[in-house]
Amino acid sequence: MSDDVTPIRQQYLEIKRQYPNAILFFRLGDFYETFDQDAETTSRELDLVLTSRPVARGVRVPMAGIPHHAAENYLARLIEKGFHVAICEQVGEQPIKGLFPREVVRVVTPGTLIEPGLLKGDQNNYLAGVTVVENRAGVAYVDITTGEFSATELQSEDILSAVRAELIRLGAVEILVPEGVDLNNGLSGHLTRWPAWRFEPARCQEAILNHFQVGALDGFGMRGMNMAVRSAGAILQYVQETQPGALKLLAGLSTYSLSEFMVLDAATRRNLELTETLRDGQVEGSLLSVLDHTATPMGKRLIRQWVSKPLLDLETIRGRQEAVGHLVEQGMLRAELRAGLRPLADLERLVNRVISLHAGPRDLTAMRDTLRSLPGLRGLFLQGSGPLEHIVARLHECGEQLALLEAAVADEPPATLANPGVIRSGYSTELDSIIEASRHAREWIANLEAVERERTGIKPLKVGYNKVFGYYIEISRGAADQAPSDYIRKQTLVNAERFITPEMKEYEALVLNAEDRIREIEGRLFRDLCGQIGGAGRLLLETARALAELDSLASLAETAALGRYVRPEVTADDMLDIRDGRHPVVERSLKGERFVPNDALFEPGEIVRVITGPNMSGKSTFLRQVALIALMAQMGSFVPAASARIGLVDRIFTRIGAQDEIHAGQSTFMVEMIETANILHHATGRSLLILDEIGRGTSTYDGVSIAWAVVEYIHNHPALRAHTLFATHYHELTQLSDLLPGVRNYNVAVSEADGKVVFLHKIVPGGADRSYGIHVAQLAGMPKPVVQRAGEIMRTLEQSSGKAVKINPEAAQQMALFPETNPMVEELKEIDPNSLSPIEALNKIYEWQKKYVSKG
Ligand code: ADP
Ligand code: MG
Repeated sequence: MSDDVTPIRQQYLEIKRQYPNAILFFRLGDFYETFDQDAETTSRELDLVLTSRPVARGVRVPMAGIPHHAAENYLARLIEKGFHVAICEQVGEQPIKGLFPREVVRVVTPGTLIEPGLLKGDQNNYLAGVTVVENRAGVAYVDITTGEFSATELQSEDILSAVRAELIRLGAVEILVPEGVDLNNGLSGHLTRWPAWRFEPARCQEAILNHFQVGALDGFGMRGMNMAVRSAGAILQYVQETQPGALKLLAGLSTYSLSEFMVLDAATRRNLELTETLRDGQVEGSLLSVLDHTATPMGKRLIRQWVSKPLLDLETIRGRQEAVGHLVEQGMLRAELRAGLRPLADLERLVNRVISLHAGPRDLTAMRDTLRSLPGLRGLFLQGSGPLEHIVARLHECGEQLALLEAAVADEPPATLANPGVIRSGYSTELDSIIEASRHAREWIANLEAVERERTGIKPLKVGYNKVFGYYIEISRGAADQAPSDYIRKQTLVNAERFITPEMKEYEALVLNAEDRIREIEGRLFRDLCGQIGGAGRLLLETARALAELDSLASLAETAALGRYVRPEVTADDMLDIRDGRHPVVERSLKGERFVPNDALFEPGEIVRVITGPNMSGKSTFLRQVALIALMAQMGSFVPAASARIGLVDRIFTRIGAQDEIHAGQSTFMVEMIETANILHHATGRSLLILDEIGRGTSTYDGVSIAWAVVEYIHNHPALRAHTLFATHYHELTQLSDLLPGVRNYNVAVSEADGKVVFLHKIVPGGADRSYGIHVAQLAGMPKPVVQRAGEIMRTLEQSSGKAVKINPEAAQQMALFPETNPMVEELKEIDPNSLSPIEALNKIYEWQKKYVSKG
């Protein structure tokens, strides 16, 4: 099928050649059609019927179509699955040689979406660009729906991990990397590989200079930041190719430094469940879900950013604390502020839609409603805004823009400009006079028949309409010669004559053209209006961001008030003193039970706190709660404790719960060791280390030895000596406190009452009882032989202390206490251990013991 393919097929193939990596949505009438391989993909991914279309004599190709009006939903699904979609529209009014010109108007990718329906309101939609050379990297990111555009440089021996951590912090949905750079591991964002030449320094620098119409990079603080320039320049080129309309939103480019924020590596972010849970990746159950009481989409996005980047600057932290404190104390103000914010639309994204000319009529009414609320919100601060002053100062009333929207936009305009009625009457005399003239003309024509009968005295006179002649006056043949002299004869029928008059043709033109003209004038007025509103974009965006800040601060204050949090004292010295601290998430999730608060108070000279205790007694909860409290303190939030004093922490490292995680391709133990090595390489004396069950992923002796050596290293290395919480079930490690002066032992208190074990969740000084586990087993009603045998094995292990242990296999065989038909085994099969609480499990054992063991 070479020469004789249809012209439209030729057109399709030419366009498709330019977009080999995207699915091409080819507009044909009311459908977007896909062909060939694309059709097979879309029909498979979207469950569409695969049909075919003839493209030459006797040749058909696969085709699958999507109705134009439902495209958004299908687009969303393809983007979600990681595809790029090139949208090819018909352009121009007329076909040329029977064929409409067509061109690709944009390429939809995850990072360049603008459709409100496809975006998440509570998150930024970041497109990131990455360049890596040896141990240095540049990361730039942009959100084309809000105009945020920023870049930074990183340096690290393990540069890929550092880049990954930053991308995870950003939550980038799409990551643009040069071909050949491998970032795959652990990123949720969609990786878009682009040719390396797109990242060439000169080309990228030029892209930036061109876009901002400047002569040098100095104004952006990017002089010498070669890697940042390359990443930002690549992003600009990419947006140019995929979503050129959005370029004008990118009004500025800032640089940032990761040294402004507490560093949290990817594993720590996951482990601490800052913005999503480990288990199901949902926000619910994360720290964010506790702190987020925001009322607006821009507030939601901002508080997520805050949670993702705790601060390092005392001044800024205290500024935020002051503001939160003010709103905690002023309960009325907080309530009124939050009520005032609740109805607001997403002003930040609206402004950007207006600037990029993607706004529809209802975007303007949403903006109008939001602007109407501003004076009321400002009014809340008339008596003074205290520590909120610098924010309230950026909350502009935007009266001029509101007045314009009030005057120009109808109360309830149609959804699109395709229908008339967008502009309010009284705004444009031109528009009003056309609407009025058209109304008048309709009336005039409606009255014409009566008026003409009267004037001419001709009874059988009728006014009619047809497509060919438009309006006409028809007089039956008999009376036709009485027609007045101003009638112009137009058509002769068998029984009648048809006439027109020049006047009536004028009115007719008015009526027929009015709708087109109204549409055209409304379109022009609407674009003007967007231009004027867009001209105040800076003012409006500043206001939107001030609203976001007030919203986020009020949210932290609300959380503090509801949860009875206190303001932590954040200091420059090296201390950690939390009294009666609680875990912000776990304390909320306990049903009926009380959360037991715990202190974390490091005395001078204390470096490592070893915490022992049985499984499920609360070790991990305690560890995480200390990390979360420090982190919350540094984001400016209040904390769940009776009091807290926290010396600035530069980084938090965690190594938690190997068994909870599933890593593709790497053994759990390998991952554990990589993460631990990372901690030992990067922690400083001002870091906070959370080590939970290190060594669990390997055999006991390996595990103990590694755990032991790690504690020693942290304790003794002069550059480390970081506050460390070390939870372990190896009570061998409690011996460390005798050998190293900075190690303290703690354990989780347990009580036994009525033959039942109760976890008190209280962390108390001292190591756990050595035979504790066996003791618990006994209490729980384990069969006596098991308990005795366990005691024997333990003694054997102790005697051999460290050497390879041989356990007498004969003795071990006596352990087979449960034959296969045992009713208890049957019952055991029915149980889902994941849904049992530890207490339930112990009590179950107790029950079995009564039921089966004492009987036999
Ligand atoms: P471990 O790490 O010792 O195995 P976890 O920290 O995972 O134990 O805690 C197990 C469960 O105990 C938690 O899910 C929670 O329900 C409960 N728990 C932990 N700490 C407390 C506490 N301080 N107060 C009340 N319940 C707690
Ligand atoms: Mg644990």
